[in-house]
Amino acid sequence: KWDEILEYLKIEHGISNVSFRTWIQPLQVYSVDGNNITISVDDSLIGVDGKKFIIKKYALPLKVSIEEITGKECDLTFELLSEINKNEEKKKESGNSVQEKPATQIQNKYPFLNPRYTFDTFVVGSNNNLAHAASLAVAESPAEIYNPLFIYGGVGLGKTHLMHSIAHFILDQNPDAKVLYVTSEVFTNELIESIRNRADTNSVAEFRKKYRNIDVLLIDDIQFIIGKESTQEEFFHTFNALHESKKQIIISSDKPPKDIETLEERLRSRFEWGLTVDIQSPDYETRMAILKKKEELDGLSIDDEVMKYIATNVKSNIRELEGALTQIVARSRLINKKVDVALAEEALKDLISPNDKKDITVELIIGIVAEHFDISSDDIISSKKSRNIAYPRQICMYLCRTLTEIPLKDIGNKLGKRDHTTIIHGIEKIKKDMEKDSSLKNTIDVLMKKINPQ
Ligand code: ADP
Ligand code: MG
Repeated sequence: KWDEILEYLKIEHGISNVSFRTWIQPLQVYSVDGNNITISVDDSLIGVDGKKFIIKKYALPLKVSIEEITGKECDLTFELLSEINKNEEKKKESGNSVQEKPATQIQNKYPFLNPRYTFDTFVVGSNNNLAHAASLAVAESPAEIYNPLFIYGGVGLGKTHLMHSIAHFILDQNPDAKVLYVTSEVFTNELIESIRNRADTNSVAEFRKKYRNIDVLLIDDIQFIIGKESTQEEFFHTFNALHESKKQIIISSDKPPKDIETLEERLRSRFEWGLTVDIQSPDYETRMAILKKKEELDGLSIDDEVMKYIATNVKSNIRELEGALTQIVARSRLINKKVDVALAEEALKDLISPNDKKDITVELIIGIVAEHFDISSDDIISSKKSRNIAYPRQICMYLCRTLTEIPLKDIGNKLGKRDHTTIIHGIEKIKKDMEKDSSLKNTIDVLMKKINPQ
């Protein structure tokens, strides 16, 4: 009868598919003793906190459903599977490998959100299951459980994907909800803009209105405001205003609050009011599942050997993993050859060098720095002197010096035939600035990780 009870619960209480799969389906009856029913909660899937959430949100509906279907009164107790297993001194089964989810129809209703970044397209593995469960809990009950939710993890591991998923989910449930997703860079720029227009006395008020008159604020890559004092100050007030009026805040970062050295203490303690969850690098099974998901979403049909080849060789980040598949497919179309392992090897030879580590070149550094500052590689090697180009150029000099053994003269040549004194000057400038400006230091950290993910 258990399946019937769960089905009834799902329909009677209008539980969405993804919520059902995450919270309800893994529940099992552990024991029945008269009216007392003990239900096991698989904490390897949803975390220890997941139990609290289930009790808060689903215990009553489940009790009612059981009573409806069986016609008997009951009392429910929830037990963590890990505890049960510990008690029985049995080894825990690894039931937490990968959950596959069917693709849903994707519409672009919210222009600031990537329509592909939803819970349905997010592959859950042991590297991200807690972050996934917490995100879903917040999406289902904004401002009720974890506020703020703080998600951290390395580049390309799915933070933005999860944040957009939360926003989509909330908006799908309630199209009138005022959900605002911004990167911390956008937040900073808009703040600076509003201060610059101070002559117009309304501009700061407008800024505050925009950020405070909402139900949910998602702020991505918070590390970029850290160290920028006035931005941090404004964010602090935004945070307080929203939190006090019981609005949900979701923050992502590349590090946990405790490791962000220059974070103001009062902001750090605010961040720790809620729940902090991490995303780690995916294991092999999860990498395979992500590739399969992408294959399905892109309507491709790729040989399993090729998928295994990619999953074995591209490890550090999911953006690269997906990029590898895209490159292989593009190459096969270009040269009109079937996708096989030989073609995959050929297509990925730049991505995968024998020692599994990319050689860091000046060109690579220029490319990554240019992308970060939204300028072109040509700008960097050009003779342009405006600060928005000259400064990233100096950052390139510093990074080339720090991350490679390339001689100064060659660095100079590749950076637009500049002589080595210019390069030394650039390196020294960045070093000095980093001592004073912790947000620059943060930026450099982020860039270093992008250049050399290991
Ligand atoms: P981050 O914001 O942490 O740098 P993103 O969210 O931009 O990373 O993810 C990078 C890419 O990897 C995106 O295309 C995203 O869809 C994909 N991705 C990340 N995690 C997953 C996952 N668990 N399942 C499916 N795709 C994922
Ligand atoms: Mg991101």
